[in-house]
Amino acid sequence: MAKHILKCQKCNEYTLHQICKCGDKALEVKPPKYSPQDPYAKYRRIAKKDSLQKKGLL
Ligand SMILES: [Zn+2]
Repeated sequence: MAKHILKCQKCNEYTLHQICKCGDKALEVKPPKYSPQDPYAKYRRIAKKDSLQKKGLL
């Protein structure tokens, strides 16, 4: 598994695997300049919020 998000140029799909499910090579995606945000940040926020909610429920 690659540490960067890769994108298959053929099916235009994002993947973490260097070889897409279609068999084509997925290439590294450079984050757009206008969006320096970590693509995983929102998922981390959700996970954190979720764990806090769980703590609140316990
Ligand atoms: Zn593909």
